[in-house]
Amino acid sequence: MLAAYAVHVEHSRGRRFIEPQHPYRNDFQRDRDRVIHARAFRRLEAKTQVFTRRYSDHFRNRLTHTLEVTQISRTIAGALGLNADLTEALALVHDIGHPPFGHAGEKALDAAMREHDLCFEHNLHALRIVEDFEQRYAAFRGLNLTFEVREGIIKHSRDYDKKTLPELAEYLLDQRPPLEAQLIDLTDEIAYNTADLDDGYEAHLLSLDEIREGVPVFERFYREVEQIYPDAPEKLKFNETVRRILNRFADDLIQNTWSRVNQAGIRALDHVRQHPERLAAFSAAVDAERAQNKNFLYENLYFSPALASEKDDAERVVGELFSFWMEHPASLPEHYQEKTKEESLPRVICDYIAGMTDNFILEQYEKYCEG
Ligand code: MG
Repeated sequence: MLAAYAVHVEHSRGRRFIEPQHPYRNDFQRDRDRVIHARAFRRLEAKTQVFTRRYSDHFRNRLTHTLEVTQISRTIAGALGLNADLTEALALVHDIGHPPFGHAGEKALDAAMREHDLCFEHNLHALRIVEDFEQRYAAFRGLNLTFEVREGIIKHSRDYDKKTLPELAEYLLDQRPPLEAQLIDLTDEIAYNTADLDDGYEAHLLSLDEIREGVPVFERFYREVEQIYPDAPEKLKFNETVRRILNRFADDLIQNTWSRVNQAGIRALDHVRQHPERLAAFSAAVDAERAQNKNFLYENLYFSPALASEKDDAERVVGELFSFWMEHPASLPEHYQEKTKEESLPRVICDYIAGMTDNFILEQYEKYCEG
């Protein structure tokens, strides 16, 4: 049963280009399927989340991370009576604008753009992908997604100012996004905070002792698990602990959002939109645990010396290729040379690089920068 404050598909503001209704899939289900069939979605498989393939084939990449976010989001949306189809579409599309090499790649691309007084931002890039770059239909460019999915792409993780980005005015920037979109940023955190502990431990970059010492919620559950399974292998106790953290975060997000919605007297989608702040939130206690977990990962994993050389490589590859194409635009594929008639050269190069997988950008680097 959909709650009154959920997004109801029959009230969708619809698509840019009107299309006939599908006989047995609603508009949000179709959007979910369009995202899954997009080329940019398939490329997520070959984009780094935190660890490159050098470490292991069973660590998360951006695609499997996306699927984990989707699973958690769907569960939470269901428990809150939200629109699970919309939530699923938003979770599947949430990282589609990420460049190769994880956050190092994003930082390097943004730095290259800033030299030309421009910037790179993955949510805005995701919107360009679904609106323009994906070409599957003869009748229109892009995927022609519903308003609510496009709005969620832009607004799920941050607020934008209408003054600096007037082209986004149609996305109701002075209103909060629906709860389905608000959830995504938080489920993203649940997914990577737990998964990165797991992959970091498996990669031997984080030790059990370090994690127990640095992440209080982990220590608490680990002690509990040791009581129940004193003879279990360490890795299984580790898994049982991470599982409990994930459940605690997800459960808290459901309960706390539910009580905030009730306390605020939210009875319609419009109340969600007009409320002065986002309603999807962790409780203060769990939010503190989440922050400890996240800070621990920043200090001990993301900025660890072990991953530093890969970060440097990522920045060098992105930076040098960007400069190369700035000086040699004739070496861009013809389709991108064409685009420089409508867009500035730095923007076209940025779009090209942002779409690349880790392997493809390395091939380009070998071809143009190491010759
Ligand atoms: Mg993500």
